[in-house]
Amino acid sequence: MYRIVQKFGGTSVADTQRIKEAAKKVAFEHSQGHQVVVVVSAMAGVTNKLIEFKNCVNNGLDASEYDVVLSSGEQTSAALMALALQNMGVRARSWLGWQIPIWTDNVHGKARITGIETDLLENQLKKNEIVVVAGFQGLTPDKRITTLGRGGSDLTAVALAGALQARQCDIFTDVEGIYTCDPRIVSSANKLDKITYEEMMEMSSLGAKVLQTRAVELAMNYNVRIQVRSAFIDSPGTYLVSEDEIVEQQIVSGISHNRDEAKVTLLKVSDRPGVAAGVFGPLAEASVNVDMIVQNVSEDGKTTDLTFTVGQADLNLAVEVLETRKDKIGFQKIVADAELVKISIVGVGMRSHPGVAQTMFNALAKKGINIKVISTSEIKVSVLIDEEYTELALKALHSAYGLDRDTDRIGSP
Ligand code: ADP
Ligand code: ASP
Ligand code: MG
Repeated sequence: MYRIVQKFGGTSVADTQRIKEAAKKVAFEHSQGHQVVVVVSAMAGVTNKLIEFKNCVNNGLDASEYDVVLSSGEQTSAALMALALQNMGVRARSWLGWQIPIWTDNVHGKARITGIETDLLENQLKKNEIVVVAGFQGLTPDKRITTLGRGGSDLTAVALAGALQARQCDIFTDVEGIYTCDPRIVSSANKLDKITYEEMMEMSSLGAKVLQTRAVELAMNYNVRIQVRSAFIDSPGTYLVSEDEIVEQQIVSGISHNRDEAKVTLLKVSDRPGVAAGVFGPLAEASVNVDMIVQNVSEDGKTTDLTFTVGQADLNLAVEVLETRKDKIGFQKIVADAELVKISIVGVGMRSHPGVAQTMFNALAKKGINIKVISTSEIKVSVLIDEEYTELALKALHSAYGLDRDTDRIGSP
């Protein structure tokens, strides 16, 4: 007998039929004598609809009320799941984040979990009942509802698995596991049997929304065993593992892309100490998250060009903040571009293999794709290119690193 957390994403509970199908999986696990905690997302599309409703009534930002609206999607699916289980003769009860409570800080819209009270859930599990928890939500110390960032039901599931010391956390979704690339774009993508926490964290933060980045981070820190698997097909999924569990290490394990990128270039910025601080300080104060940064070498010793990227939602704010400080910072002009995508190759094997980036640059050059910005870290290389080349670039890189299905995975670039 063991304890398991099963999380069902939006498409897995998209309608009442799918909720009944998901309930069958839960009931089966329970019938094997295991203790089951179920975490559900809102039915597919509901969270986006709730955002629309809220914006229609009030486009301003009362972040606290925003979270009350947003969290309501998960309330419906949690209760429907409990009812579907009861209908199958299994005892089940649903709980919202605040009832448990799942404590968070007060950063509405992307709150961090600070603690989970487990007594209520432990008691229910001891009575051999299934616990159903509404994902994506928590409670602040001053009793306001919070949400945990988009895709946050993953975080609820991992946090519960950690707090309740579950043997495993199964994330049921609409693909069969983690693939070498988004299988909806690159049809030759390979399903991975295993991926390291570190690689998955990079893949997620670089755009692969199959798992929420913070959920992966938490799983890595608390050693929560995760399997990502299909809600529709009964097949083994992908396990997140530590690096020493990977026997045959690939140099590049996966490729991610993120369309939420916008580029800002300051032309002819004066080249003197303190300029970078003068640019990025005000942006940080305005809560604009800056990602890639490139500064050209100054040709005349007086001015240079400075390029950086931000999320598309922050582009106008970033331009506004800098325009108002134009004279103080000292630059000629701002050029902004939002039609961009960031493509990243990820793999722990990169640490010990030179020439990995070169394969990327060659593959893109062969397709005539121009690279606008490059950034690297220990286990990833990212490039910024025109958005129209997304699919072409992903497919070219997928082949260049030997990741295509039915081809041998090459060991070196
Ligand atoms: P859920 O609603 O179950 O939480 P998500 O939509 O959040 O599901 O995540 C699943 C989606 O992630 C898939 O449909 C797929 O298009 C996308 N995805 C992006 N990159 C990958 C990848 N490398 N492997 C698998 N799926 C990926
Ligand atoms: N329903 C929330 C969202 O759409 C949380 C989740 O699905 O994990 O982001
Ligand atoms: Mg998700």
